[in-house]
Amino acid sequence: MNIHEHQAKDLLRQYGVPTTGGGVAFTPEEAEKVAQGIETDVRVVKAQIHAGGRGKGKFKEPEAGEKGGVRFAKSAAEARELAEQMLGRTLVTEQTGPAGRVVRRLYLTEAAGIAKELYLSALVDRASSRVAFIASTEGGMDIEKVAHETPDKILTLTVDPATGLQPFHSRKIAFALGLKGDQIKECAKMIGGLYKLLLEKDVSLLEINPLIITNDGHLNALDAKISFDGNALFRHPDIVALRDETEEDPMEIEAAKYELSYIKLDGSIGCMVNGAGLAMATMDIIKLYGEEPANFLDVGGGASKEKVQAAFQIILSDPSVKGILVNIFGGIMRCDIIADGIVAAAREMAITVPLVVRLEGTNVDLGKEILAKSGLKIVPADDLADAAAKITSAIKAAA
Ligand code: ADP
Ligand code: MG
Repeated sequence: MNIHEHQAKDLLRQYGVPTTGGGVAFTPEEAEKVAQGIETDVRVVKAQIHAGGRGKGKFKEPEAGEKGGVRFAKSAAEARELAEQMLGRTLVTEQTGPAGRVVRRLYLTEAAGIAKELYLSALVDRASSRVAFIASTEGGMDIEKVAHETPDKILTLTVDPATGLQPFHSRKIAFALGLKGDQIKECAKMIGGLYKLLLEKDVSLLEINPLIITNDGHLNALDAKISFDGNALFRHPDIVALRDETEEDPMEIEAAKYELSYIKLDGSIGCMVNGAGLAMATMDIIKLYGEEPANFLDVGGGASKEKVQAAFQIILSDPSVKGILVNIFGGIMRCDIIADGIVAAAREMAITVPLVVRLEGTNVDLGKEILAKSGLKIVPADDLADAAAKITSAIKAAA
């Protein structure tokens, strides 16, 4: 789960990491009010979306003006004008894809005097099973380019969980960031805070880009992005409260209500599968047969009629779905029950695209009989390859 920059900065401050002050605004009126409370002459108005690259982004609507998602206002009245331009408009950045994201809230903050922009992040590194810190002197808006072209300018440091964070870790990071004097102490304090935050809140990724050295020589987190491990959210109601569902795929939210794991993809074949491994194999074989899956959907072990129905509804609500492949292994759940669910769902909902069903496992013959007797246009398949061949040729024939 991701949160907005302004929320991430509130958390950072709680863990002793310095950030610029300010507040969030949902309307131009609120923006003006928050701007009035900011003491610097210049205020920064920042679009809050769950994607980076805002500074270099562009709004789709001409009314939003030429500038990107990070703008400077010399007065509270100007902050209000900028808010009027940006709110409700669609910001397209390198990370949003061409569809962009609608800006529904702004963060107004003090403008910082920037002497240098650095990069600092921390994440759970699966390869080493450790927390890793990544630091570079080349912070700012082009870090991806730095990683690609001059990887030697990036330090990666992992922390052994048995010993935890040690003073040498932060010294190494401070050195890699080119810090001097008191900045090294500030860095140690910051690294300590970030490590604590990461562990206490089950953070999976935390990125400060840029981390700046201010004109008067202090460290400050000017941008912040934090992602949390979804599997650990049950122990962090305070984090769940920060969720902004408008930033998430509405179908993924709907799927979560039925405990279906659903992820939207770009292809044309809707998949309904039980078990993540089988879902992966199904997606692979669809690709092997020259098509692309429209989604990953795991209905789980106990696929009830209601679940199967909800799964169909979710798949069918995606206009790019040109055919559906159901691939279910009846282990805990028997094939006849699955077949009943499929038939009931298919009866109640107008399924206008080709539907191929492959069942295997307990009571498979009974299941196949139920499908055959249903009178519905369901194409049965015997195995994975047969199913993939049938669905890909069916959608080709339909097109
Ligand atoms: P993004 O990463 O989405 O582009 P950032 O918050 O990193 O957004 O902002 C982009 C750039 O805008 C920063 O690299 C920095 O140069 C400038 N900027 C952002 N916030 C401030 C601020 N409070 N004061 C001064 N400059 C800022
Ligand atoms: Mg940034």
